[in-house]
Amino acid sequence: MIISIDKSKSNGVIDALGAATTRAGATMRVIDWIDGSLSVDVSGPIEPDALGHPAIISVRDVTKPYRLASREHREKTVVRVGDVEIGNGTPVIMAGPCVVSSVEQLLRAAEAVGAAGATILRGGAFKPRTSPYSFQGLGEEGLQMLAGARAATGLPVVTEVMEPDQVEITADYADMLQIGARNMANFPLLKKAGKTRKPVLLKRGFSATIEEWLMSAEYILAEGNSQVVLCERGIRTFDTSMRFNLDLNAVPYVKELTHLPVVVDPSHGTGKRSLVGAMALAGIAAGADGLIIESEPNPDSALCDASQTIEPAELARIARKSMALTDLLAIEELAIA
Ligand code: PEP
Ligand code: MN
Repeated sequence: MIISIDKSKSNGVIDALGAATTRAGATMRVIDWIDGSLSVDVSGPIEPDALGHPAIISVRDVTKPYRLASREHREKTVVRVGDVEIGNGTPVIMAGPCVVSSVEQLLRAAEAVGAAGATILRGGAFKPRTSPYSFQGLGEEGLQMLAGARAATGLPVVTEVMEPDQVEITADYADMLQIGARNMANFPLLKKAGKTRKPVLLKRGFSATIEEWLMSAEYILAEGNSQVVLCERGIRTFDTSMRFNLDLNAVPYVKELTHLPVVVDPSHGTGKRSLVGAMALAGIAAGADGLIIESEPNPDSALCDASQTIEPAELARIARKSMALTDLLAIEELAIA
């Protein structure tokens, strides 16, 4: 059972629910959303009298195993990264290099993607690479460069964290923690990110089912961190013509299942620079709340994922078309209503 509560009137209600839960021999978990509401997840039935408090907005039975992530008790969640809101109806563009390789490279990239319409800067400092001999990222030095680029441009920063031990230091520098496809089911990492109050970008594992992905989000929510954004970034199929296959079915379907925002990564989802624009727009048409795109001024010189990195001019075209498409879809919605 999930009880939704208006936080502004919540005086005493949590204690009362706690006492009723204990009397019923059940357990209770409270999650604080940034919109001024609370959800209380109670593991079993409690006395009906405990549910009469005026702060209680609704009481819902949740059938899904991803209880807190489920849309059965909540319509939508907006996640805030710095001053940027993800999930408020305007698509958010996160862009930047795959990997941070120098102060100059990152600063030029940050300025260029910001001018092109990105409002969040991406860039890897800890990189998961298939080969142990490939460049692994600059680690803390890369995080410092990201913080420097934020100071220079005002763009909040999202960057990947690969191990539980890196969560604290990454959270010290970044505005949003990225958990990559290869770590989607790294449960100690999910729990550690859940203990912070930093927003988390949770990428779908490339062999993960939608339910496994939502269960991973649940690990973060269950630790009390309500700021989770899902990212569809392509899955493996029998067809090897592309690096991955962007599963755009997942976008509207996941939106039926969860209240969390969903963004699309057409860079890893295709692996091909020439396809990024088309699949970015397809993601927006499918209902994505934003895009994460690899872009820097000299894509061919990128130390990682050069073949899928686009020029800022192409990013600017994607940003303009995404906004136009969003307006068109909103007009259509109004016409239907
Ligand atoms: C990335 O965004 O740089 C990345 C490594 O993504 P993924 O985890 O989706 O492969
Ligand atoms: Mn990459």
